Amino acid sequence: MNERLLRAVDDRVDDLVELTADLIRFPTVNPPGEAYRPCAEYLGARLEKLGFETEFIRAEGTPGDADRYPRVNVVARFDGRSPGACVHFNSHIDVVETGKGWTVDPFAGLVKDGRVYGRGACDMKGGLAASVIAAEAFMEVYPDFPGAIEISGTVDEESGGFGGVAHLAKLGYFSKPKVDHVIIPEPLNKDRICLGHRGVWWAEIETKGEIAHGSMPFLGDNAVRHMGAVLQAFEDELFPALDRKVTRMPVVPEGARRSTMNINSIHGGQTEDFRPGLPSPNVPDSCRLTIDRRFLLEEDLATVKSEITSILERLKRERKKFDYEIRDLMEVLPLMTEREAPVVKAVAKGIMEVFDREPDYVISPGTYDQKHVARIGHIYDCIAYGPGILDLAHRPDEWVGIADMVESAKVMAIGLNVLLRGTTG
Ligand SMILES: [Zn+2]
Repeated sequence: MNERLLRAVDDRVDDLVELTADLIRFPTVNPPGEAYRPCAEYLGARLEKLGFETEFIRAEGTPGDADRYPRVNVVARFDGRSPGACVHFNSHIDVVETGKGWTVDPFAGLVKDGRVYGRGACDMKGGLAASVIAAEAFMEVYPDFPGAIEISGTVDEESGGFGGVAHLAKLGYFSKPKVDHVIIPEPLNKDRICLGHRGVWWAEIETKGEIAHGSMPFLGDNAVRHMGAVLQAFEDELFPALDRKVTRMPVVPEGARRSTMNINSIHGGQTEDFRPGLPSPNVPDSCRLTIDRRFLLEEDLATVKSEITSILERLKRERKKFDYEIRDLMEVLPLMTEREAPVVKAVAKGIMEVFDREPDYVISPGTYDQKHVARIGHIYDCIAYGPGILDLAHRPDEWVGIADMVESAKVMAIGLNVLLRGTTG
């Protein structure tokens, strides 16, 4: 058993709370990417005190990077006494906008009733703090450990991760032999292991028309009416078909255990800039629709796309003057780490010891930085595991439970012991 390790975590509860609150006090709101540098520097300084070597990597030229809003990432590494595997904890330091409905200051790091409140408390500064405390406890109990521990604080996860994990992965920070196992402490609940996520395809469909005077619409060709035909076909054929495609992936919530598509936006005709005046009478010559299609391991992207294009092609044959264009905006393939993978087994061991039960294995309905670790870094021994209740993420009065963080840190510390020292106690 890992009693000394668990005690070393318990000894650090105050540190854990303070670190979480401190991290929340940096208002790292994305967009635009506020306070990234001071937050990364704070985390780096904290880890340097423990003996980590730190690097600060600004992702110049990535979306949103500017001198006012530099995309600054921190990667810290501690090499053990002898060679061995490297376990990397990756957390994003960016948070989403606060929105309305808060009853506490979102950036004060308020500690109350066993919880730390604030934007990013659960998603995911609490998880980041738990991983730091787990590493600290492990290093104190086993100072001679082989291998290495890395902790990174990366930016822009909420906007796709291009200036964060994707950028670092392209530079080799998420590849062998530097890194072997990756744990991303996203708020998936303390007793669940997240193995991956569904796939994503975003696209923009544009129907074409011909502008004319609105009093004589027969002289033009209305692009919005063409889009209406597209939407009707989606309702009649596509949505029912997607609903019938169920997956063996254990996606949570269960409603996402099938193919889904969201219509993200639709724009046709004049913009609304005429307000507070009146629009001019025109037949719209363009209508644009963006779709957000989430797909399953059982589906391939080519088929996902052809389901849409075959509808559009059919409308082109059947409907007078129908013409369209379709543009890809984003593609992410679905991912699912095997349950037999070392990092899954190590964290499962920790969950069994701390909670005396088997973990739940889940898949996230949306993507997170694991996609870049796998697709760019080619590290497939990667999971998301961390404290915090997923449903609280991005909501007003976001919080993380202190007891949950402590238990998660214990699980992570045991995971480190299994992965680095090859021992379960
Ligand atoms: Zn997150």
